[in-house]
Amino acid sequence: MKANKAYRFRIYPDTEQQIQLTRTFGCVRFVYNRLLEEKIGYYEKSGKLLRNTPAHLKAKYEWLKEADSLALANAQLQLESAYRNFFQDKTKGYPKYKSRKSGKQSYTTNNQKGSVRIEGRKIKLPKIGWVRIIQHREIPEGHEIKSVTVSKEASGKYYVSILTEYEKEPIEAELDPEKALGLDYSSPHFYVDSENHAADMPQFYREDEKRLAAEQRKLSRMKKGGKNYGKQKVKVAKAYEKVRNARKDWQHKESTRLADSWDYICVEDVNYQEMAKGLRLSKATNDNAFGQFRTMLAYKLEERGKKLITINKWYPSTKTCRHCGHIHETLALQEREWNCPNCGKHLERDYNAAINIRNRGLAIEQ
Ligand SMILES: [Zn+2]
Repeated sequence: MKANKAYRFRIYPDTEQQIQLTRTFGCVRFVYNRLLEEKIGYYEKSGKLLRNTPAHLKAKYEWLKEADSLALANAQLQLESAYRNFFQDKTKGYPKYKSRKSGKQSYTTNNQKGSVRIEGRKIKLPKIGWVRIIQHREIPEGHEIKSVTVSKEASGKYYVSILTEYEKEPIEAELDPEKALGLDYSSPHFYVDSENHAADMPQFYREDEKRLAAEQRKLSRMKKGGKNYGKQKVKVAKAYEKVRNARKDWQHKESTRLADSWDYICVEDVNYQEMAKGLRLSKATNDNAFGQFRTMLAYKLEERGKKLITINKWYPSTKTCRHCGHIHETLALQEREWNCPNCGKHLERDYNAAINIRNRGLAIEQ
């Protein structure tokens, strides 16, 4: 069975390489935007979907040949997929044009017969050459590099995301329903589980978050386009990156711990990003942190032959009494604890929900 794995490392391009990377980001953006413009023009005239490729642009604009041609081809593929989504659901509007001013710039290229490879502390990228790389973990033997996405963050740091393919042995594990855990997403605690344990992030993370908020406040008081505005923006981006990395680190440790200890983990199939928009929940929800955590859990459990079970988001996990099954329709969002109107038992909101999620997950699985 073929499987994929992604790795993300920081790279340190020299000045000349930085210039070439900036050029490539620009070419990719240009191709993407031009092809999109053509598609939109064609659609408005004919109501039909235009299939166009970068070939005619490359013929017309010589300088596009300086860029990695696979990066341009991937820009087209990325646009095709975004445009097809628009075609299926036109209420969402056309895909957006790429802007130079958006914080993150990136492009994706493919490995063709070793055109992308790592040797020692360097990675070879087509048209860029050998770039210094810091690998915090080794790509295992037998993993073949399929593609690499090169990006520059708003903070000015460069990264590569490497996608590998490898041959995976299927794992047959005997799973024990007694070792099932339910997780209920909770804004203040991240999650509460069916053992009534709340997963609070460590204190240092809160401190980084406070520092980020302070830098953001400082930025909001500055005049846009003023002398120090740009500098402060980079400061904010750096503080944000620190928070994001610390959170990811913690999430990795936490998800490994859970995947080691449990055979089944049950969660709800909720789109937390959408939910945050509707309820204006905390910033952490906005970043879809729990969604990311769920993805980590899924592959770590799978690696161990275990299972992540997702429950339909319409299942009333919060409003159902775990003792008698009564559904308390009028339960309000701010009620952290409640008494079941049917059986009278006292219930803690998140703990009760986590147990319902676990029971529901096991019921689906059996
Ligand atoms: Zn009850």
